[in-house]
Amino acid sequence: MDELRYQIDLLKAMNQKMSGREKMFRLACDTSNNAFLYYDYEKNSLITFGSWNDFFSFPVTETKDFSLILDMLQEEYAEQVRELLFLEKSGEEHGSAESCLKDKRTWYEFEVRVNYGEDNRPLDKIICIRNITKFKSQNEELRYLAYYDGLTGLYNRNYFVMLLTDFVRQAEKEKDIVSVLFINLDDFRKINDSMGMVVGDEVVQQYGQFLGSFSSRNIIVCHMNSDVYCMAIYDPCGNRSVETIYKNIQEKITEGFLLSNGTRVHVTVSVGVAEYPEASESVLELINCAEIVMYKAKASGKSQMQYFNAPMLQDFLQTVEIENKLKQAVFNKNFVLHFQPQYYSDTKKLRGMEALIRWRDENNQMISPMVFIPIAEKNGAIIPIGNWVIEESLRCYKEWKRKYGQDFIMSINISSLQCRKDNFVSHIMDLIDKNGIDASEIEIEITESILIEDFEEVKEKLIILRDQGVRISLDDFGTGFSSVSYLNELPIDTLKIDKSFVDKVLTDESTRIILESIVNMVDRLGYESIAEGVETEEQLAYLQKIGCAVIQGYLLGRPMPAEKVDEMFAKML
Ligand code: C2E
Ligand code: CA
Ligand code: CA
Repeated sequence: MDELRYQIDLLKAMNQKMSGREKMFRLACDTSNNAFLYYDYEKNSLITFGSWNDFFSFPVTETKDFSLILDMLQEEYAEQVRELLFLEKSGEEHGSAESCLKDKRTWYEFEVRVNYGEDNRPLDKIICIRNITKFKSQNEELRYLAYYDGLTGLYNRNYFVMLLTDFVRQAEKEKDIVSVLFINLDDFRKINDSMGMVVGDEVVQQYGQFLGSFSSRNIIVCHMNSDVYCMAIYDPCGNRSVETIYKNIQEKITEGFLLSNGTRVHVTVSVGVAEYPEASESVLELINCAEIVMYKAKASGKSQMQYFNAPMLQDFLQTVEIENKLKQAVFNKNFVLHFQPQYYSDTKKLRGMEALIRWRDENNQMISPMVFIPIAEKNGAIIPIGNWVIEESLRCYKEWKRKYGQDFIMSINISSLQCRKDNFVSHIMDLIDKNGIDASEIEIEITESILIEDFEEVKEKLIILRDQGVRISLDDFGTGFSSVSYLNELPIDTLKIDKSFVDKVLTDESTRIILESIVNMVDRLGYESIAEGVETEEQLAYLQKIGCAVIQGYLLGRPMPAEKVDEMFAKML
């Protein structure tokens, strides 16, 4: 700016003292690497000086020659520079604009200052033209570092968030949709562990380039970190619909990526999708929602895509909250056991009690195991919780046995993670011994899911436990994969028929047929059958009729706290 003022003063002086004109011209040229153009409105005289010839191969002597300058510029910049060169039309005093030349490499900056007289008529103007190519390229480098990821060449997270913000703003105006895809390579750690980090980097790089090939005006792709990418699609439809892009991603699995060491890797990805405005109107929340469902896609077997919906967020937030509170509860042992009685269907005598855990939260509210056990199973808290259940139920058992001398079986639910611990068998046996309990009065309840994960290992452990006298019960029979084929391979004493069968038994003929054959089969295999969730006299009568050995359910007794069990035993004396 000062430079411009200086040049104007110089030119004014030059105009006044025509004799010194040549000298001053030289001075002006020497002091600057820029090209200058001076225009006097009154005299309609235009002169160029400074490094004009380094910039332009033509002279400009009249304002209509400005078009020669404009012709050198890339079209998209020309209009703005034209307005600037005739700045007096807007009545402004000063303005500047950058423009790239048609060679696409060279950048000029135009700066204009107009002097106005007292009546606001323009007196003269000076135009300064600078070559800013070098400055621009340094800026570009800095911009690259700030906006791009070095490994993949994709946008980085920050820039992605900025661009996604633009998408969302536009979608708000145009009432469009923006889809955000959170993409995570499956089993990336395995690749890193088995092939090394250099190869891992190459996979990330190649996958990034592959995803980058979807980039367009309406699709932005970024590398978030490690093996995570994000894609945002503006107005997804046609060949840029989420389904089409996911189909392309799936097709790439078969082809795989050829690495520089000659191996071909076939990478699958788990994808979570959240859409503006349905999932959220905030950019960061959209990314979070897509991440949440990506984990859901991982949990349900990887190599798949899941869409976000609102109840999922609630679920997720609840899970996080429960997880945090659960840690505290484990620490403080804020759990209680309730016990539900089981009766022989023919004699109505007490057969046993199932220990069912409840969590008493800080507001003294009971939280159902259906809510927190699945979370504890995921984050490992089930190990200390499960140990507490075993200890507490054995302690209660020993106490009742001492006080009331009743024979009954104590059933304890066991999770798959507990079962997989190396010391699972010895831990239970130690506690049974320590309490001086007869092992045959303790029963563990396992579900089929335990067996599916590691059949042989679990089978071995169950055989050892059963050899020592502990009873084994198969819980929730009929809900999972229910393969009858493994039944005779396993050391089982009891089979618990799931409540969903009992529910339908009076109304559904085919359920009756299946149930009758299960009871029959259990009987012939020499196991004991227990029907769970029996709520009505009619259900009870039917189960008695088909020969189901044991009944458990609200009809005969709800799960109750230890004090109530005490009362029950006291009455039986
Ligand atoms: P489960 O092992 O199948 O337990 C039976 C569930 O059915 C119990 O729910 C019980 O209260 C309920 N129930 C019993 N009779 C009836 C009935 O007539 N009607 C209805 N509607 N429900 C009935 P609860 O106590 O909420 O436990 C739910 C599940 O949580 C259990 O299902 C079990 O899978 C798990 N669980 C409970 N305690 C433990 C534990 O100590 N360790 C582990 N690993 N899991 C546990
Ligand atoms: Ca059970
Ligand atoms: Ca059950």
